[in-house]
Amino acid sequence: MNADNPGASRLALLIAGGFVEGVRVSPSGDLWARCPFHKEETVAFHISPAKLLFKCFGCGISGRVCRFLELTRGVEAEEAARILKDLIQLAAFTPSAGRNRPRRAGELLGGLFESYALRLRSGAKSLTTGFERLDALSGGLSPGELTVLAARSGVGRTSFGIALLLHVGLKLGRPVAYVSGPLAPPQATERLLGALAGFHPRNLPTELLGGGERRALREASERLAKAPIYLPLEAPRSLNSLGDLTRSLRREQGVEFFVYDGIEHLAPQASLSVGAGLRDLARDLDLHLLATSRLKTRGQTQVHDLPADLFSNASSVLLLSQSEVAASERGFRRLCLEVAKSKAGPLGSLSLALNLDSLTLSEPGV
Ligand SMILES: [Zn+2]
Repeated sequence: MNADNPGASRLALLIAGGFVEGVRVSPSGDLWARCPFHKEETVAFHISPAKLLFKCFGCGISGRVCRFLELTRGVEAEEAARILKDLIQLAAFTPSAGRNRPRRAGELLGGLFESYALRLRSGAKSLTTGFERLDALSGGLSPGELTVLAARSGVGRTSFGIALLLHVGLKLGRPVAYVSGPLAPPQATERLLGALAGFHPRNLPTELLGGGERRALREASERLAKAPIYLPLEAPRSLNSLGDLTRSLRREQGVEFFVYDGIEHLAPQASLSVGAGLRDLARDLDLHLLATSRLKTRGQTQVHDLPADLFSNASSVLLLSQSEVAASERGFRRLCLEVAKSKAGPLGSLSLALNLDSLTLSEPGV
């Protein structure tokens, strides 16, 4: 099996079956992870689905994949061989075109086992958002859940999505993905770079920058280049294509947090609303999905301005609005982030400051 055959990486994941942590799948479909047989933080454990061999470059344990199955599942050699045969069959299964044709139950098993493997290996840990008070209110970004952030146009929802994305992708070093409804991928990347370097995107053409700023920009580019942050070359415009993209990013890159900025750009499916589709996607792939939604109404931001479908299907609903209480400092805009629905924590609100020069958000007083 090789890179042309996505079955290779799927087979590697199925063999690992949640018994290893820190999983990365290489483009050729090989799996690298932390060794389950000795305690170490480095990713030195290797499974080759092409050769059906495993080896740890830390402690030296190695052998045929059947032996790995014996050791991790506590079975005899004969049973391990039978399990391996089943896993190879499951990995070779690829769903054919025609999404809505009825499937035999056996055909659906491949996807089911895959989602088990993903769920087991992710260890179902919540991620922090980078905003302490928000984590206290919402319980962080739990795998399998959908958060909807609603705001009127121009208030700062893109800045919010990017702040969370950079926190998880850079500070926590977890694989993340970013899709912008309104922005083409190069402009979306420019927003990420600007936020990281501390420049407004309009100042990004380098001729406009001084020496110190150019250095900051170079450092930001280097950090961004190394970060596990993924953007599609073409933004998906339907639930179907978003589903395909998310599945492949989850499987190939281990993406744990997905930001879709501007969900009003996404077309629903005939039989599935956008809210239900996003909820299912987050749950089935065991990742956290943040969707931002534009509120069309003028005046005060209210929960009932949000489409009921998004509200009812989200685990958390956040409303971002311009604060009317605190006077804005020069160069900053004070925002209010209200937790309007929370499955994991209490309701409440917190204050955020939007830096109008860099379009970055901070939590005052933390
Ligand atoms: Zn080892």
